[in-house]
Amino acid sequence: MAPERITILGGGLAGSEAAWQAARRGVEVDLYEMRPQVPTPAHQTAMLGELVCSNSLKSDRENTAPWLLKEELRRAGSLLLEVARQCAVPAGQALAVDRGRFAAGITEAIEQASLIRVHREEMREIPADSIVVVATGPLTSDALANSIQTLTGSERLFFYDSISPIVDADTIDASKVFSASRYGKGIQASETKQVGDRSSGENAAEAAEGDYLNCPLGEEEYQRFYDALLTAESVLPHHFEDLNYFEGCLPIEELARRGRDTLRFGPMKPVGLRDPRSGKLPHAVVQLRRENLRIDSYNLVGFQNHLKFGEQKRILRLIPGLESAEFLRYGQIHRNTYINAPLLLAPTLQLRSQPRIFFAGQICGVEGYVESMATGLMAGIHGACLALAGDTPVSPPRATACGSLCHYITHADTLNYQPANMAFDLLPPLCAATPANRDKKQRHALQCQIALGKFDQWLAAQQKVPALAGPFRA
Ligand SMILES: Cc1cc2nc3c(=O)[nH]c(=O)nc-3n(C[C@H](O)[C@H](O)[C@H](O)COP(=O)(O)OP(=O)(O)OC[C@H]3O[C@@H](n4cnc5c(N)ncnc54)[C@H](O)[C@@H]3O)c2cc1C
Repeated sequence: MAPERITILGGGLAGSEAAWQAARRGVEVDLYEMRPQVPTPAHQTAMLGELVCSNSLKSDRENTAPWLLKEELRRAGSLLLEVARQCAVPAGQALAVDRGRFAAGITEAIEQASLIRVHREEMREIPADSIVVVATGPLTSDALANSIQTLTGSERLFFYDSISPIVDADTIDASKVFSASRYGKGIQASETKQVGDRSSGENAAEAAEGDYLNCPLGEEEYQRFYDALLTAESVLPHHFEDLNYFEGCLPIEELARRGRDTLRFGPMKPVGLRDPRSGKLPHAVVQLRRENLRIDSYNLVGFQNHLKFGEQKRILRLIPGLESAEFLRYGQIHRNTYINAPLLLAPTLQLRSQPRIFFAGQICGVEGYVESMATGLMAGIHGACLALAGDTPVSPPRATACGSLCHYITHADTLNYQPANMAFDLLPPLCAATPANRDKKQRHALQCQIALGKFDQWLAAQQKVPALAGPFRA
């Protein structure tokens, strides 16, 4: 008997990965993506797997929590991670990608996969007659959000988040900024030269070393910037305090309200960024991360905000090096949609009340690109397990990054639930207190070793995976 088909709602990070994983296992997939017919407030193309803000997939340094998650994805044959590696841009010890090439690579692979049929259509309801993966993300369309709300009986499905501005590289004053990664952990300009090959040759990033451009502020410049920020006009001045923000992505004006030095200990912290011209640490720093391989634009790291556009232009131009900056995108506020996962989901990402419905990506209560990819990967594997043999899927063990993420979202406090990024504190603590695991680095290395061992065992117990034809054959 042919396996059941799987219907996937949303062709973003989670939905694309889920589709790929199910198809790899021989299951036919109907993937519904509403763009370009119905746009979202953040996506700019019709491509699958589009990154809506930063181009960073976080640290790639061995034995860090974000690395562990990516390593598990790599071992499980993640399409998106493979594409990311193929279009990586230099970003110190982080994995950052050329977002255009990333989305194009995913779109091509998915559209060419013979078992995946892509439908460009908004799904307004969850289909009743199929195994379904809901992966419509933080910007789920209103109609579907209402239908999910009815299905799950959720009172509240939204909170608020914000995105950073992007500046045109040619409008940065190269004489005022310096190029460096924190603690010199980047790679040298000579190694990255081929990617900064702009015809003008005047791009500030080509001039010096390190992957980030840094705008140094002296004490007076910082105070002036801070005062201007505090009095700037916001888009939503009257609702400010009512908005339910995600703590990990607070707008800078909101952080500034917490104290004069909060920004200097947050997104503007100067530690590890000595200005090569003065040999000193600046009072504060604004870091700019390259957006793509062409190095024609930079993201202001951690500068998400929802000030009025005119105000952003005025205030950001107070930053040394950005006096004449042209902004390609301003910071914005956006809605974030997610279900109360600890109340509703099993660790296999199945709706407890209707196990044929899976949730993956941001909507299932994780936060972040790679976390969305990871839950997409698991939903694809679990969905295929159900479709192929009617088997009960088994979540990866809690000691793995993927398993700990699912454990957190399904066991956290249900009151005021906040989505999670991958972090070591999601993993179970090591039992034995040896001198070695009292050292943080060694402890993390050991946790990673245990996690990967258990993840390999779990993977081996999943169905044998036939290779799919196409450029991203696992
Ligand atoms: C503005 C913004 C900025 C963010 N910035 C970052 C960041 O810098 N770093 C980070 O790690 N995370 C960031 N996130 C959080 C999160 O990691 C990303 O949103 C990520 O893309 C989530 O992946 P996803 O697959 O869950 O959703 P998405 O990638 O958004 O994919 C969901 C897809 O579903 C489609 N869709 C929606 N409704 C329907 C429907 N009814 N029918 C059919 N299709 C539908 C959408 O068009 C979209 O393509 C940001 C989120 C937002 C909204």
